[in-house]
Amino acid sequence: DVTVVENVTFESLLLSENVLKGLKKSGFKKPSPVQLKAIPVGRCGFDLIVKSKSGTGKTLVFSIIALESLKLKKDKLLEVLIVSPTREIAVQSQEVFKLIGCYFEDLKVESFIGGLSLAEDKEKCKICNIAVGTPGRIKQLISLKSLNTNSIRLFVLDEADKLMENSFRNDINEIYNSLPPKKQIITTSATYPNQLDEFLSKYMLSPTHINAEIDSPLLLGLKQFVVITKPTPTVVQLMKLKTEELVKIITNISFTQCLVFSNYQTRAESLSNILNQKGWPSTYISAAQTQPQRLEAVNKLKDFKCRIMLSTDLTARGIDAANVDLVINYDIPLDAMTYLHRMGRAGRYGSSGVCINLASEGPDLLHLQEILGNIGGTALSIPKLTTFNGS
Ligand code: ADP
Ligand code: MG
Repeated sequence: DVTVVENVTFESLLLSENVLKGLKKSGFKKPSPVQLKAIPVGRCGFDLIVKSKSGTGKTLVFSIIALESLKLKKDKLLEVLIVSPTREIAVQSQEVFKLIGCYFEDLKVESFIGGLSLAEDKEKCKICNIAVGTPGRIKQLISLKSLNTNSIRLFVLDEADKLMENSFRNDINEIYNSLPPKKQIITTSATYPNQLDEFLSKYMLSPTHINAEIDSPLLLGLKQFVVITKPTPTVVQLMKLKTEELVKIITNISFTQCLVFSNYQTRAESLSNILNQKGWPSTYISAAQTQPQRLEAVNKLKDFKCRIMLSTDLTARGIDAANVDLVINYDIPLDAMTYLHRMGRAGRYGSSGVCINLASEGPDLLHLQEILGNIGGTALSIPKLTTFNGS
């Protein structure tokens, strides 16, 4: 998925000195396919709808285009606005900007996310060139007139399909309406449902579609398995069975880091407690936590301070923890799209990984099969679903 083209380096994309130095310092040498396709078109100022699989480097696509577009005039501060569906993704993108933008003098990249001090955010607005944030907080800062959108020239919707869902739609509309009429828009995601095109056409006149997805939406380096549990009369018994299977899996499989997804906030927490009791140090993240707790949980995973994280779909998208090579669906996700995004947390940038589903016989298993069928709909081949036998 990230096989790079021979001899094509970031230099061949004719990037500026500062960006090239920043990329080099961060260890990036060659552009990934989506970067190769999207960056030159984006730098010409065209609106882009960028589609490529999880972990193929979409953050660098908009970061490089953004940095190359900066004018950094003293009186026109805010030039780039990036909106992300989760607070953790926003902070992660801010870090990428800081890393590859480190040679830009006086560049200020700030993140604006809910759950942290509004007063501090208002201050940050005054000196910010690139703003990354979640819809609610960005909208709030705009309506408070703290964030001045008059000089914005680039608007990025990361994980665009998520941002167009009902819960975000109004905020995104309001943010969009506050922007100057002339600006460039870039959307990115690994998944674009059909209805999205229609919706995006309200925002973008004749966008260029960048599609770096060659065949299947599934990552080549990822293998999928299912562990089928017996049907049980009660949820408590089902959880007991699934938890036993979960422990079997993490005991028998060698992995570097593991993300376990469940469909309920309380389940993420209680599973983490159970694993801790059984001698598997783990952490959890859920929207029920405070924002500092959430950021701490993600940092623990990224800094390798823990190997197992229990999560809701809060981290199903966007989170880039390079060492996660095992994803376990303790609960089968609601839809195929969520399945793809969850699975994409393993196999970052072409690395290999495993996704194991825990499904009980009956509706649960049928639902999983339906999801896999859906993914196969646009795919040439779908890896065969094998029953995992613990060896
Ligand atoms: P996406 O948004 O497409 O899911 P990310 O932008 O989070 O993917 O990138 C996934 C991982 O790939 C990150 O760890 C990133 O540092 C790495 N990566 C991105 N581009 C390159 C590149 N050109 N060369 C090497 N690694 C890269
Ligand atoms: Mg991303």
